[in-house]
Amino acid sequence: MTSCTHLDHVRFTQLPESVDGCEECLVTGDPWLHLRICLECGKVGCCDDSPNRHASAHAQRSGHPLIRSLQPGEEWSWCFIDELGMLIPDVHGETRIPPSPLG
Ligand SMILES: [Zn+2]
Ligand SMILES: [Zn+2]
Ligand SMILES: [Zn+2]
Repeated sequence: MTSCTHLDHVRFTQLPESVDGCEECLVTGDPWLHLRICLECGKVGCCDDSPNRHASAHAQRSGHPLIRSLQPGEEWSWCFIDELGMLIPDVHGETRIPPSPLG
């Protein structure tokens, strides 16, 4: 079984109370589907089913491997390097997010 060796990249263990949406889509006025947060720098990006895929673009550009879903009720995290989903019990909180512009 594979396991993620990048947990020392996790700097954000407390999720924000609320976010306004994908940071980059808000700037350009683009829609997003689901929101993810980078667990290394806290940047909020959109999922791979969104037109701009900002979360994975950020991971590639920055080398920050781990994201967590910000969708209500979703607690999974994902490592882009290992391509592995996991639960990280150290990450706490639930974030209020606006409804997706794409429904
Ligand atoms: Zn990993
Ligand atoms: Zn986006
Ligand atoms: Zn980051």
